[in-house]
Amino acid sequence: MIEAKIFAVFDPKSPKSSLPELAVRLLDGQKQTWPQLIAGYSSLDSIRLREVRCEGYSVWLQFNPGRIVSTGAKVDAQSIRERRCFLCVQNLPAPQNGILYRDDFLVLCNPAPIFREHFTISHVDHVPQSFRGSAVRFLELARDLSPRHTVFYNGPKCGASAPDHMHFQASPTGTIPVEEAAREKSRRLHRKQVRGVEILTLANFGREVIVLESQQIESIEQVLLDLLGALSVPTGTKEEPMMNLLCSFGDSAWRVILFPRSKHRPDAYFREGDDRILISPAAVDIGGLIITPLEKDFNAVDARTVEGIFHEVSLPQATVEAAVEKLS
Ligand SMILES: [Zn+2]
Repeated sequence: MIEAKIFAVFDPKSPKSSLPELAVRLLDGQKQTWPQLIAGYSSLDSIRLREVRCEGYSVWLQFNPGRIVSTGAKVDAQSIRERRCFLCVQNLPAPQNGILYRDDFLVLCNPAPIFREHFTISHVDHVPQSFRGSAVRFLELARDLSPRHTVFYNGPKCGASAPDHMHFQASPTGTIPVEEAAREKSRRLHRKQVRGVEILTLANFGREVIVLESQQIESIEQVLLDLLGALSVPTGTKEEPMMNLLCSFGDSAWRVILFPRSKHRPDAYFREGDDRILISPAAVDIGGLIITPLEKDFNAVDARTVEGIFHEVSLPQATVEAAVEKLS
């Protein structure tokens, strides 16, 4: 079944095998043959952007009507059970194919793009969205997709529109505002170093964010998993903590950006009538590029609304600091 869907196989052992190059070739090919993708990318031509200056930081709003499917998606257990999983190989549209990545993931083009190059990297099996078991793949993907793409992950209760099927996504590096913010000297607060991994938080950012940096894949994986464990405790869950993650690789080092979350959708999402604001924050949004599928939200959302939403969906500062404190 899967063989028929393989456009190319990434070979990690061959220096000639470039994942970004393969991904771009896949996208170019799919733009010739897959009508839904062609429509998705042509709708990107009509998106609009607006900067909103908040206290200490800026965000960009992206008016993108094509994203209504994802922003408006029902992600409750019953709705998920009742729909056909759109990431399972046997359900992929006939023209869709992908790049086999290290035997267990498939790099696919996202037919409702936010970016000029937007990929979904989905597990070959229908296994639940859960980070721990694929932490190494997340880091390997960031390295193999560098320097062109950044990888991100949305927790099953934090924006993943297929919480029942393990997947990551990838975007052009540098297009999500937090990527630049994480490099700004004035924001970088060094907290501690654990097993060679630098742990930082970002100042004046309106939501909690933890940054991990290391040149050692095993160390950053371990410290990240320890941090997730420390964040699970105060939030009272045995599952992974609610979160969004981004990872990029450059200058021989990984940078992981973690947004610990207290809730997925803000109260405004569930209001009735004109008061409803259709913003459903996942990694891209909390990273500073907020998708508004409705024009009225794109026009109306102001700094106070953004600050309120970030504050509402972010884990409180004291909880985050206590988790960082525990790491050793
Ligand atoms: Zn599936």
